[in-house]
Amino acid sequence: MDLALLDQTLTDLGQPAFRARQVWGWTARGAADYEAMTNLPVALRSELASRVPLSTLTLQDEAHASDGTVKALFATADGRPVEAVLMRYRDGRRSLCLSSQSGCPLTCSFCATGSMKFGRNLSASEILDQALHFRRMTDVDHCVFMGMGEPMMNLDAVLAACARLPDLGITHRRTAISTVGWIPGIERLTEEPMPIRLALSLHAPEDALRSELMPVNDRYPLADVLAACHAHHERKRRRVFVEYVMLAGVNDRYEQAVELARILDPLVFKVNLIPYNPTGGPYDGSSRGAIAAFKDALEAHGVRATVRLKRGRDIDAACGQLAARAAPA
Ligand code: SAH
Repeated sequence: MDLALLDQTLTDLGQPAFRARQVWGWTARGAADYEAMTNLPVALRSELASRVPLSTLTLQDEAHASDGTVKALFATADGRPVEAVLMRYRDGRRSLCLSSQSGCPLTCSFCATGSMKFGRNLSASEILDQALHFRRMTDVDHCVFMGMGEPMMNLDAVLAACARLPDLGITHRRTAISTVGWIPGIERLTEEPMPIRLALSLHAPEDALRSELMPVNDRYPLADVLAACHAHHERKRRRVFVEYVMLAGVNDRYEQAVELARILDPLVFKVNLIPYNPTGGPYDGSSRGAIAAFKDALEAHGVRATVRLKRGRDIDAACGQLAARAAPA
């Protein structure tokens, strides 16, 4: 819902200020339409229905995986593709993976979004509308900004969306922003009062390989990024989650695990190893055995590590695959 348009429309209609809060309250709890908003006058409901669309996004396609994962492809009003995913876990967690941009200006060599054309930053309403789409389906309680785009390059809109997520049932502590290591954004999140989790996409334990995988490393090299994460931890007292995509023969060797453990302070970082989802590029994912060995090596050197569960594989909803079929409309 375009919240600025809602405010303007209510003002134009001479409505009191509390109406916007009423409409948002219903919307955040998953109301399917204005008709459901029973504490609004009937005439106002139909007026709003014709003037303020329930979503800024149009659903183009939706895929349901056998494990309960749902991937939605939307189009913005100006025809940009946006994808978001709902993951349902066996422990009951309902987690959203949201996009912050249509496409991505960064060009990580293993990422599908990085190879598509960058569109633009999404507005806070366009970000919230991804979440609201799933909120109309189910309760939700976790959110990660690990869809399309670099959230730190659109941080105003991302934080404005985050500020409203608790109304949907997602607390700040259960919200994570994932970054390539965009230092100005990390620094801003450090100053931000909302206790949102920082996640860092690392993928390599040294600069040469990291720059090959993530050209942004030339601008914000490893040591500077890690220092920004230390400052973040110092202030927020919350561990930074490191994402490490496992690429066969590229970053999954024993010595690389040892080097990774050497550069990561276990009091500051926790590692999440991500099985790679091939996207048609030059890389293969590490085998399960290689991932397990890498995890063991990290833990033997004192760094806690988990292996990310794969969700939604049969619908190409897994990490980094969101752009796979999202051709610009
Ligand atoms: N730009 C941000 C957020 C989006 S990507 C960032 O890079 O952190 C979210 C995560 O998915 C990142 O860690 C990214 O490296 C990872 N990813 C990208 N492509 C992938 C793929 N094909 N398989 C597994 N993970 C992938």
